[in-house]
Amino acid sequence: MFRIRFLAYVLRSVAVLASLGLATTASAAPPAPTTIVLRAARLVDGRGGAPLAPAMVRIEGDRIVAVATTLPVPAGARLIDLGDATLLPGFIDLHTHLTGRQDVHWEDALLKTTPPEEALWGAHWAEVTLMAGFTTVRDMGTNWPYVDVALRDAIAAGAVRGPRMIVAGAYVSSTGGAGDASQYSRYVDVPLVRNLADGPVEITKAVRTNFKNGADFIKILATGAVLSKGIPPGAQQYSDEEIRAAVVEARRWGRDVAAHAHGAEGIKAAIRAGVHTVDHGSGLDDEAVALLKAQPTTYTYYVPTLALLASAIDDGESKTFPPAEMDRMRALRSMAEGAFRRALAAGLPIGFATDAPVLPHGRNAREFRTRVGLGESPMASLVSATRLNAEILHLSDHIGTVEAGKAADLVAVPGNPLADITATERVGFVMKGGVIYREELAHGH
Ligand SMILES: [Zn+2]
Repeated sequence: MFRIRFLAYVLRSVAVLASLGLATTASAAPPAPTTIVLRAARLVDGRGGAPLAPAMVRIEGDRIVAVATTLPVPAGARLIDLGDATLLPGFIDLHTHLTGRQDVHWEDALLKTTPPEEALWGAHWAEVTLMAGFTTVRDMGTNWPYVDVALRDAIAAGAVRGPRMIVAGAYVSSTGGAGDASQYSRYVDVPLVRNLADGPVEITKAVRTNFKNGADFIKILATGAVLSKGIPPGAQQYSDEEIRAAVVEARRWGRDVAAHAHGAEGIKAAIRAGVHTVDHGSGLDDEAVALLKAQPTTYTYYVPTLALLASAIDDGESKTFPPAEMDRMRALRSMAEGAFRRALAAGLPIGFATDAPVLPHGRNAREFRTRVGLGESPMASLVSATRLNAEILHLSDHIGTVEAGKAADLVAVPGNPLADITATERVGFVMKGGVIYREELAHGH
């Protein structure tokens, strides 16, 4: 009884304090936005031109307000000197699974984990990804549906530290396709949490269900996958008509479709159907390149994920994939790397993505080194992960370059990434929306 009365007293006191707090805030003038001035040896602003050296960037609140070789430091502003570092726009990854764990196969997750567990791990990996300099991600799907929607909203509300998220909700797969669990006895009833849909009618419904539940875009599995036992990675799993049904319905909502596609026929069907991105694109052949080049303005983008192969096969970082899936990765590698070289030679814009946690979370920047190793210039790879990815997300007005008026999403790496691209793997300063999350490169403050 005493405890109940005491609790009631505490709750009442909290309510009173809260209302006092509100009253105080309402009557006081709004606080002036915090001003921060960053100084570094150079700035690669994401637009692809020569670096600005030295460089200063002034931030007020959550916005960049000035960029120049030298800037005055207003009274009361905080000056952060990053020394011999390079400032860059916050990196953007177009293909992550932030709630996924590399050590739990996605099919096992459906039988052995719960949505709350996935949400908590997602919060952890979101922070790991942000600390690696990735301030925005397009998240391509969860094990348990809509955990990504909750994580996106919790990050936006400031309850969880992580990148801005654009999320797929429950991705759409055909029965027996790459998104259907096929590992177990056919008598085991794997929880039907995936958005399995066959035929244009069911696909239309799956798309609507996703948007109703908070997804920002639609991910469909146009072909088989490496990390699935069912249909082979190269095989087209949705008919042209089915892919088109997803695109038509998504466009009614003003949204995009991203297609997971490895095999050449699935890639070309997805391009012809008008998907916005072809993810992985391992079998991108000359005909697919010609289709992409023939677009009057670029609408469909090729978004490869290459470092995961190097990471799993060369670095031995990925010890948790079954032998059959490692065999699929090895088989796919020369094709996927050939596709990247073909796209590069054709001058296609190439989106930047990793498929983390297939590449371990937080190691996203490994993709830069892989792409430069395959012949891309360091500048082109940096533009891809910043300005180009922002354009693909329709967020160019907001993020992707360091310019006055843009959101203050900035990272810094030691030295010059144009001379040594692996500097991107040593991020030592991260700001998202004007909030500093790490700053060990800063001196003298
Ligand atoms: Zn993926």
